[in-house]
Amino acid sequence: MTTENYVYKKEVDWSLLTEGFTLPINNQVVFGQIMGLFLQRGESKEINLYLSGRSYKARIMNVNFAPRFNRKKDTLQIRYSKNGELSKVLKGYFLRSYNYIKQIRETRDPSIRTMIKLPEEYKEYLAIYTTEDEDSYLLETIVADDMQTLREIMHGQQERVMEAEFNYDVKDDTAGLNQKEKLDKIRKLNKKIGDNLKLLYGYRCQICGHKIGEEYGSHIVEAHHIDYFISSLNNDANNQMIVCPNHHSIIHDVNPVFDRRRLLYVYKNGLEEKLVLNRHL
Ligand SMILES: [Zn+2]
Ligand SMILES: [Zn+2]
Repeated sequence: MTTENYVYKKEVDWSLLTEGFTLPINNQVVFGQIMGLFLQRGESKEINLYLSGRSYKARIMNVNFAPRFNRKKDTLQIRYSKNGELSKVLKGYFLRSYNYIKQIRETRDPSIRTMIKLPEEYKEYLAIYTTEDEDSYLLETIVADDMQTLREIMHGQQERVMEAEFNYDVKDDTAGLNQKEKLDKIRKLNKKIGDNLKLLYGYRCQICGHKIGEEYGSHIVEAHHIDYFISSLNNDANNQMIVCPNHHSIIHDVNPVFDRRRLLYVYKNGLEEKLVLNRHL
């Protein structure tokens, strides 16, 4: 199964462990286009989900079919049989989240139905990718143990070096084999999320709007982590920004503060620079 494009990074919750999850399709360029082509509001279709070489039947459905919803806000759900084969396998992988949530569910007042938030050290993720077959998706698990390894490996690393690995697919051969396999999954997810955002902005810098290298038939653009990845370990799309190499170097040189509310960088010399392109922050 060849991985093609990023679809979603889903934090593990009870629903994912038992019957399915929601996929927002805003800002997911390739996947959003594929879905727009074949799935109208209210429609669903059968798909295959691949996890560790095994295939599981599931359905994907477009759930926002009321006319009052804007077409852009269409939301998809992936559903599998409740407590069926895939659910069992997912519970096995995400045992730490599963046990934690299960215990709270069993001990709390049953009338409380609010979502159970996992503490930081329990958070686990399911990564979803398209494959060369439009009805098949690849699932990869990032479990608490992987995150722990990542935390250890990232300690003492340099942000620019890590980001270069993600942006240019440079491999780090210093980590041990076991660690490396875990890092590969996370590196891939990081890169695929960045690649999707690069497509979303047409390879233009969100700060200056330039597409560097266009006149040479090239396009050089980089994904930057707003909260540095080595400390936040956060590769969510909303922590990545697409920037030209110049802006990227300047950001790491002077460490400006990003004001999320006003969508601008405040540099040490007082200069403020607002994003000229933004669709995802
Ligand atoms: Zn720029
Ligand atoms: Zn950066």
